[in-house]
Amino acid sequence: MSTKANPYENFLNVLDSAAEQDGISLNEYATFRFPERELTVNFPVHMDNGEIKMFTGYRIQHSSARGPCKGGIRFHPDVDMNEVRALSAWMTFKCAIANIPYGGAKGGITCDPSQLSRQELERMTRRYTSMISPIIGPHKDIPAPDVNTNAEIMGWLMDTYSMIEGYPVPGVVTGKSLDIGGSLGRPEATGRGVMLVASSLSQKLGLDIKDCTFAVQGFGNVGSTAALLISQLGAKVVAVSDHTAAFYCADGLNIAEMLDYCAGNNRVLSGYKADGVTEIDKNELLYTDVDFLIPAALENQITEENVSKIKAKYIIEGANGPTSYEADKILFESGKIVIPDILANSGGVIVSYFEWVQNLQSLQWSLDEVNNRLSDLLLKSFNEVFELSQERNCSMRMAAYIIALRRLVRAKNTRGLYP
Ligand code: NAD
Repeated sequence: MSTKANPYENFLNVLDSAAEQDGISLNEYATFRFPERELTVNFPVHMDNGEIKMFTGYRIQHSSARGPCKGGIRFHPDVDMNEVRALSAWMTFKCAIANIPYGGAKGGITCDPSQLSRQELERMTRRYTSMISPIIGPHKDIPAPDVNTNAEIMGWLMDTYSMIEGYPVPGVVTGKSLDIGGSLGRPEATGRGVMLVASSLSQKLGLDIKDCTFAVQGFGNVGSTAALLISQLGAKVVAVSDHTAAFYCADGLNIAEMLDYCAGNNRVLSGYKADGVTEIDKNELLYTDVDFLIPAALENQITEENVSKIKAKYIIEGANGPTSYEADKILFESGKIVIPDILANSGGVIVSYFEWVQNLQSLQWSLDEVNNRLSDLLLKSFNEVFELSQERNCSMRMAAYIIALRRLVRAKNTRGLYP
């Protein structure tokens, strides 16, 4: 993996190609080449040892053309302006492809949460929330969890924003716990979406998923849920990894058991042992000889340098931006099918949208209602993207960007330019 690549340039390359392939002029889409609003905040946090430490955070709103901005918050040492920019732009396209009434945004704090106590994490989250509070809100910009953030952190964000406003505002954030307005089905929504598109692709290709093998990179919210649901379909998940370790079993790993192990092991896989399971080099997981590869960790994992080593025929992007622009072209030319991030992991934002709708209406839907509506919306966009990619003989990424860009351009043209 190259650490130097700029993910926003990756986004621009794909966007420009999609516009060119669909005959959309620069005049029509130039606005989507730039984020609308970028906020950087530098703020102090009291550490447990009495020290005051400075942190830098971001909230970037890429587009509000189709509705309020929407996107997660990431806590990670690699968070920087270009990463957050790219993540915010991908959200705009993800919401457009899912056809939900949102624009795109993303936020993050450059930090290593594993080095923070729970109290330090809470103080950092609350101070960051207060610093970005002028630009977020249920009708402006609605954050959600991303890498290293979870329902508890979303609860602190909701509470801080509500204290500032003076009344409870559950709709300011999604991915909250059920007790404060979260939605049934939200924690597993992204992984469920990954399972749904993998299963639909196998049907389109006439494959029986029970005969297919899978490797999953990343065993957090997205990767572990996808691995579990896919194994429950009867497919063999033969390899999984996280940032601490990777494991392989030709007969299929026991994902439920691995999840139990992680729950009691500080949420990491290292040290896992079971009959027939071997530990493999975690950097080699991507090259496992499987039918389906699911990168579900971080961006920029499949690049020009390592793409030739990928053996899987089908790649389902659970993570955002795991494949570089150049590698994507090589994968397409070699006949591999990639279900792009903006489609494959859109289950999370789709159920976030359901959570927000429930909050605005003070209602709670049943788990079946959430899962059925998720499946309807996601499979509709999957079919649209698959059909256009067949019709145009282009990659599913290109088809997804073309459909999303058409919707964005239509919204922009309908609204017109202010002033
Ligand atoms: P998470 O923090 O729950 O999990 C991340 C996982 O990746 C962890 O298991 C971590 O150990 C692993 N990881 C990190 N570096 C690794 C490496 N070098 N090799 C192998 N594993 C590594 O995060 P998440 O919410 O599961 O998000 C994962 C990806 O999915 C991100 O790209 C995120 O933007 C994207 N995503 C998440 C959601 C969501 O709802 N959580 C929605 C859409 C997209």
